Amino acid sequence: MILTQDKLKHFVSLKKTEQNLIGALGKRVLNNFKKHTDLIMLGAIIGDIAGSRWEFNPTRDYNFTLFSEHNDFTDDTICTLAIADAVLNNGDYSEALHQWCNQYPHPMGGYGARFASWVRSSNPQPFTSYGNGAAMRVSPVAWAAKSREEVLRLARRTAECTHNHSEGIKGAHATAIAIYDCAKFFAENTVINKETITQALQGVVEFSNYNINIDKSAVENVFDETCQGTVPVALWIVTNSTSFEDAIRQAVSLGADADTLAAIVGSIAEAIWGIPQDMKERALEYLPNSMKNIIETFYKTYID
Ligand SMILES: [Mg+2]
Repeated sequence: MILTQDKLKHFVSLKKTEQNLIGALGKRVLNNFKKHTDLIMLGAIIGDIAGSRWEFNPTRDYNFTLFSEHNDFTDDTICTLAIADAVLNNGDYSEALHQWCNQYPHPMGGYGARFASWVRSSNPQPFTSYGNGAAMRVSPVAWAAKSREEVLRLARRTAECTHNHSEGIKGAHATAIAIYDCAKFFAENTVINKETITQALQGVVEFSNYNINIDKSAVENVFDETCQGTVPVALWIVTNSTSFEDAIRQAVSLGADADTLAAIVGSIAEAIWGIPQDMKERALEYLPNSMKNIIETFYKTYID
């Protein structure tokens, strides 16, 4: 464990009789607290790292090795942390993205061509993108926002400094709403299955009008970097998953834009199942301290 969680440690340290005194309801609340708040925001990063080596070398093997020496964090992690940094410091999203990406100018997999020009520019301007980069980096605002209205307002700001096409903004909106709605829904509902996930995602489907009844044969082995070609697929995968790890494996082994699809899927799946502790620990090993510090501060700011 890299981060301490005083409340959980306190509960674990209680004697069995004292735990019983808390009662079933108290335990359920604590379990939900644990599931939903233990290092939030890692879902996107884990998806990115797990998918990194398959971005340009697609795999259809569901049982691929999640974390190996060939994996690394890519642009999805850098941009997610840039947004988290801006949220924490009430900073400018454009400046934070520009600064973080210039700090890591050559990540594994590189940046998309137009985004790379934006990173290199001394006067970066939005370029009407509807790329899936708008969706993969948005997750921190969903955890930080206190209302659905705030989710929408902040998600728009994360997107429009580069992805100011209506589909780019919609991709950010839909992903952020999915995270926010699922976190809220599954903090109150303990049954997780296809029906309840569908119920939790109903709002985002109505908002976006995305068709998430996807025909697998139409999307497998297809490298689609757009929001409208990626976010509905991510929602479909989440709806048909049985755990956080299953969701990540399905996303990566679809043979599509592995790291970014898995980053979007991971950010939503985290809000449903939480993340297994061993996956968090393995993923953190890939990150420099500057990134881990952002994650720790973000957690302390919005949860502790
Ligand atoms: Mg990437």
